[in-house]
Amino acid sequence: MSWTLPSSPLLRSSAQPAMEGQLQDLRLQLEKQCLLNKELENRNVDLERRLHEKEKLLKELQSQLDELDCQRERSSNDGEPDVRKSRTAVIVTEPIPEDVEITGTRVQKSVSESSLIIKAIQKNDFLSRLDDEQVTMMVDCLVKQEISQGEAIIVEGTEGNSMYIVAEGELLVTQAGRVLRTLTSGDVFGELAILYNCKRTASVKAVTNVKLWCIERQTYRTIVTNKSKKKREQIMGFLKTARTLKDLSDVQLSKIIDSMEEVKFQDNEVIVREGTEGDTFYIILKGEVLVTKRVNGQQKEIRKMGKGEHFGELALIREMCRTATCTAVGPVTCFSIDKEVFEETIPLENLELHDDLNVFEDAMAPEKRGPSSCLHLKDFVPVLYQEGRYLGEPVTLGVGGFGRVELVTCQQQGKYYALKRISKKHIVAKRQEEHVKFEKRILQEIQSDFIVRLHAGFRDTRYIYMVMEFCSGGELWTKLKESGRFEESIAVFCAACVVEAYAYLHKRGILYRDLKPENLMLDKRGYVKLVDFGFAKELLRGEKTYSFCGTPEYMAPEIIQNHGHDFASDFWSLGVLVFEFLVGSPPFASSDPQKIYAKILDGALKFPPYMGEAARSLISKLCRPRPGQRLGNTKNGIKDVRNHRWFGSVNWHKLRMGQLEAPTQRLIRKGPCYINFDRHPYDRTQAEEDLSGWDDDF
Ligand code: ATP
Ligand code: MG
Repeated sequence: MSWTLPSSPLLRSSAQPAMEGQLQDLRLQLEKQCLLNKELENRNVDLERRLHEKEKLLKELQSQLDELDCQRERSSNDGEPDVRKSRTAVIVTEPIPEDVEITGTRVQKSVSESSLIIKAIQKNDFLSRLDDEQVTMMVDCLVKQEISQGEAIIVEGTEGNSMYIVAEGELLVTQAGRVLRTLTSGDVFGELAILYNCKRTASVKAVTNVKLWCIERQTYRTIVTNKSKKKREQIMGFLKTARTLKDLSDVQLSKIIDSMEEVKFQDNEVIVREGTEGDTFYIILKGEVLVTKRVNGQQKEIRKMGKGEHFGELALIREMCRTATCTAVGPVTCFSIDKEVFEETIPLENLELHDDLNVFEDAMAPEKRGPSSCLHLKDFVPVLYQEGRYLGEPVTLGVGGFGRVELVTCQQQGKYYALKRISKKHIVAKRQEEHVKFEKRILQEIQSDFIVRLHAGFRDTRYIYMVMEFCSGGELWTKLKESGRFEESIAVFCAACVVEAYAYLHKRGILYRDLKPENLMLDKRGYVKLVDFGFAKELLRGEKTYSFCGTPEYMAPEIIQNHGHDFASDFWSLGVLVFEFLVGSPPFASSDPQKIYAKILDGALKFPPYMGEAARSLISKLCRPRPGQRLGNTKNGIKDVRNHRWFGSVNWHKLRMGQLEAPTQRLIRKGPCYINFDRHPYDRTQAEEDLSGWDDDF
């Protein structure tokens, strides 16, 4: 800096000495100021350096904390039984052929043998829900096995496919060498194995010579599935004879069936009484019903109705009083639907499960496109951990039941991708070839901002590879475990993203079937995306599917009971998800899957005191036992979910446009690109080769 002073001769002559003094002063002050500035600058540099060091230290501490978190998580999995601390394994069943007939020989049984079996079934939590006809078929299909003293029937850790009922003798159940209990005549064991191919959790050995009744999974599933299918077809036939319903399509009738309930009446019980207000429609499934009418003060018999006939039809569409009395003659079973529920299902022309076009459906903008299709697997290189225990090893983002997902980058594009790698041998062993092919096909077609994008698929002799968009915010599961439970604003936002993903999928006839926090990822902006389409399935409206799959805590009752399921079961899982978001663990939980299933079938929801009324209402409506009555599957479809007051604060349009500020932002950590993921050691083992060629078109 330089100072120029005006040089006036007048000034010079008269005031020169005073001026010089002032000038000198100013110079001194200036010099002082400059020194001070320099000093401050130095201090700034120093502060910046210290700040930098602090940040580095913070990052290191964070990464150490992460490791500790992981270790703690690994060692705390067997804590309190009802809190879900560990990720849940998915359940997959080998596909069952359509319309299979039971091939096993039917074994004739004496009266006492049958009665022992029936009693055993009735006192078993799970089997007691079978109906009479299914029980009769079970009794027919059980085969006898004789086991000598000391022999093992079930070995812990092996896969099993049979369930047993003890006819005679004594057996011992042990787990890791510890005696759990003794089994005697009338006890049931191994029943999980008839639901799906699971590993046995305990060993069973014969203490004496033993006689057992045994049934295999395929036989059991055929019994329940066939029965459910036949029953639906039969009821459909019955409904078609009701005049009021004659204009409805099969899809619409199927919806009504989903809303109906089975009711039983005893001999002489009055089902509807003349003159009273009526609001229920009945179809007779079993037994006889006597119709009488009051004529001149006397009860006059009009006629008798039998299986397949129905009454109370008009009550569905009009406020009216019953015009006759219907009484059960002997035990009667009916299928019924109430006016209120019926109205939720009808007008059926509005029964769109899906609605307004998803704005993200438009052709992908070029910048949204992934790597060009001419890239090869070798163009994707692993990203390595930059610090911590696994320094220098490739980053593993997640390990699922089927594959590992690694972080890779494509050098041409300088972007990150998630590479899912699945062993082909494992797929074949679990008979999941069609699922995997379907997952790839479906993901490739999907273009929604609420669903992870698949950019490319590759295969070699050992693995199938899928190159996906990298969701850098991490799994919602991890965030939930870190937070304990989500604040309402976060839960609402995350659930709203899932609703948008569902709207997109259901509209295209795709069922998701594996909703849980582990399959929800956050992108860098905190928006939630569905990943993992291993269980997705294409389904026509009105059609049902019968495979037993999903994650126990999230399964709808109709899946567990093999009644056939559809889009409604996705809404059930949404209810479970909202509950888990707000509470930290799902509503039906236990370390024993058998108990989970029993809780789901009982359907009792227990809300903690801190849960708000709107959330309770939403969850109760999504977790209704009858699929036809579930929110989302009612007459306005998914709109009814969006319009529920719990979502009152959501601007759905802005959400779809990506214009909402995500409250989940505050859950996302800043740091290396993998900072939001648990750390996993790199898996160096190589899967076996599989050259069978099932994946030729992958
Ligand atoms: P599952 O046992 O649930 O069937 P899976 O083997 O099918 O698992 P995924 O659920 O697809 O595998 O992925 C396993 C894990 O990998 C996820 O839970 C997640 O942590 C991580 N992951 C998957 N996809 C991505 C992605 N696109 N971006 C980041 N991480 C991902
Ligand atoms: Mg998964």
